[in-house]
Amino acid sequence: RAKDLGKNNCQFYTREMNACIEEKLVLLEGLRSALDEGQFRLVYQPKVDLHTGRIFGVEALVRWEHPEQGCIGPDRFIPLAEESGMIIALGEWVLQTACRQNRAWQDAGLPPLRVSVNVSPRQFEELGLVQRVAQALSDSGLAAEWLELEVTEGVIMRDLQQAVDKMAQVRAMGVSLAIDDFGTGYSSLSALKSFPISTLKIDKSFVRDLGVSEGDEAIASSIIDLAHRLRLRVIAEGVETEQQKAFLRQNGCDEMQGYLFSRPLPPEQLRQLLLTHAFARQVAAPETTAA
Ligand code: C2E
Ligand code: MG
Ligand code: MG
Ligand code: MG
Repeated sequence: RAKDLGKNNCQFYTREMNACIEEKLVLLEGLRSALDEGQFRLVYQPKVDLHTGRIFGVEALVRWEHPEQGCIGPDRFIPLAEESGMIIALGEWVLQTACRQNRAWQDAGLPPLRVSVNVSPRQFEELGLVQRVAQALSDSGLAAEWLELEVTEGVIMRDLQQAVDKMAQVRAMGVSLAIDDFGTGYSSLSALKSFPISTLKIDKSFVRDLGVSEGDEAIASSIIDLAHRLRLRVIAEGVETEQQKAFLRQNGCDEMQGYLFSRPLPPEQLRQLLLTHAFARQVAAPETTAA
């Protein structure tokens, strides 16, 4: 009980809280200049077709190369960027960079990939989003079919009709949409059916204990069935073991992403991986090269 802990403990907690707030303020301060200073970079994690083994896409994930603290992951600064409104400028940089990178890989003769970009709720709600997406495509010369936006269920909860309208505008451009971290939010199943999306992404918290937890197995296989009944594709994120992969494949999951296949990689390393992958596939199945 807090009252029984005495004065010193109260001070202790206050100091901890202050340290936490201070850390936030320091990061927030740095966040403002980080874009101008070029401290953000994108890494790309392959997405693999579970039936064919082919890499068909990559997810762009942002990293902050902090001058003092080293590499900072998005879980530490995306919420701050959202609260402060910085997410709009940062999100635009991510969109532009991912589209340009994807076009550069295509220009270099690599097999075309779809690049997925995460869009957080505040970014999705912003009035200029559709225009920003169109602009990123035209600036980079990337065809719309090679871009996907990943949105979470949080996007949808605030104003369903508005979310559906905006999704429709994105789809009308030819850009795909996926629901990220599916199963962790609160979107109702009836809402789901009205979304013009093409993919459901099973949250990694349900993937982790596949093969161990019957509850998680039930959730994962239900999401797969639900997706297919709604004529959506379904991808599992956070796949780390052969056991998880086997479960997903046996239960009809279409695609996977996770450390088992590859960690998120800087562009040059991803290019190398794609080259090796395309070559290995040509050697393994020469008849497909003629097609
Ligand atoms: P997310 O979109 O659900 O991304 C999946 C996260 O799981 C990524 O963390 C990825 O690195 C990690 N991951 C991939 N494979 C595995 C695996 O096998 N095991 C485990 N344990 N984790 C794996 P990351 O890169 O730290 O990103 C965290 C979250 O930050 C993302 O979750 C996304 O919501 C957000 N985020 C990342 N980049 C951006 C961005 O450019 N814009 C916005 N708005 N949000 C972003
Ligand atoms: Mg994502
Ligand atoms: Mg996710
Ligand atoms: Mg997530």
